[in-house]
Amino acid sequence: MTPTERTRTYWLEHAWLGTHVEPDVAVTVSVGGSPGGRDGRITAVHQGVTTPPPGAEILRGLTLPGLANAHSHAFHRALRGTVQVGSGTFWTWREVMYSVADRLTPETYLDLARAVYAEMALAGITTVGEFHYVHHAHGGTPYADPNAMGDALIEAAAEAGVRITLLDTCYLSSGFGDPPDPHQLRFSDGTAEAWAERCSVLKDRDHARIGAAIHSVRAVPADQLATVAHWAERRRAPLHVHLSEQTAENDACLRAHGRTPTRLLADHGVLGPRTTGVHNTHLTDEDVALLGDSRTGTCMCPTTERDLADGIGPAAALQRAGSPLSLGSDSHAVVDLLEEARAMELNERLRTRTRGHWTAAALLRAATADGHAALGWDDTGRIEAGARADLATIALDSVRTAGPLPRLGAETAVFAATAADVRHTIVGGRHVVRDGAHTLVPDVPRALARAVEALRA
Ligand SMILES: [Zn+2]
Repeated sequence: MTPTERTRTYWLEHAWLGTHVEPDVAVTVSVGGSPGGRDGRITAVHQGVTTPPPGAEILRGLTLPGLANAHSHAFHRALRGTVQVGSGTFWTWREVMYSVADRLTPETYLDLARAVYAEMALAGITTVGEFHYVHHAHGGTPYADPNAMGDALIEAAAEAGVRITLLDTCYLSSGFGDPPDPHQLRFSDGTAEAWAERCSVLKDRDHARIGAAIHSVRAVPADQLATVAHWAERRRAPLHVHLSEQTAENDACLRAHGRTPTRLLADHGVLGPRTTGVHNTHLTDEDVALLGDSRTGTCMCPTTERDLADGIGPAAALQRAGSPLSLGSDSHAVVDLLEEARAMELNERLRTRTRGHWTAAALLRAATADGHAALGWDDTGRIEAGARADLATIALDSVRTAGPLPRLGAETAVFAATAADVRHTIVGGRHVVRDGAHTLVPDVPRALARAVEALRA
């Protein structure tokens, strides 16, 4: 520590240290004046500190690394409840979703996303991967600032106190080269070249990383896939893609190209360790091998996949093949990464009629370190010296979590706790949620209600 460096100490009643729960852990964080940009990072982790050091912030419960929500469409939060009336499929749900997208402006999107990201912070989420494709004004006319919508999301994350990876999404077609339909004009830059030019203007910030996304093999014609992949490669940025969420997409891809979506992406250089396939639901054995061998990640969104009646993806087989797993709340039917984690395991139990496919520790790694890595934050998601000081504390004394021995805290967090049990959320050494209340957005339910109301037809 230099003479000017200021630190803060947190005393963690219980800490999850990647493999196990440890009691009595002191974590020191640099909060100002550090050399080499270490502000907001953990400088030391001490175990066996049975008495909180003087001046330490006491975090009672189980403290995890901050959670990474690797797949979000913030505006889908406005659909909560309204899409639960009546029947239908993914495709009928999409029509309702488009009607909300039609009404977004940079101003209304800032208000909604700030509230949604605040809801995430209350759920212990410290980094969001925003898969962003509503780029332009009505009819596809660019705003005066062509990145007004993306900048609104980056600003919303700052105001809600969370990190964001803006996965700026290329979306050009209504299906395999057909022109965008009237709703989709707002999403399209016309060509992948024009998409690349627009998002090259976006710059990383302290709390924000710029990544890329291919909406799907439906929405980006095959001859333009490589342009997006090269852009991400040059910037060493994460690249995400919705992959085989629906069998109809697979069928159309086979008709158009004579190969599966995964094979098509492989043939155009899209797969690789900085790429994440989102959903990866309906895959062939060859697809699983292609994703695993290339170390392409898999982001499972189990609460959305069950809400949209998508099916259950082969997450266990993908991980065995070499694909790292992350988790996302996607359509925000609920915002609860603990629920996403347990749903991945419980789905596999229902499918196989056997238990114990992942340990609680493995599920927490998907929700923390591996989720952050999928979003380009390799130094986040661990409680260790050098890592960013992003933490989420789960109460172990609520009606849901009281009872089990503290050493079973990871199992309790994953299999019993909910987002409502998150007591503290700390991002870069700053308390964003204290005792269950957001410190920057005063009344999050009211902010959500007003932002959703503003988008109602
Ligand atoms: Zn999605």
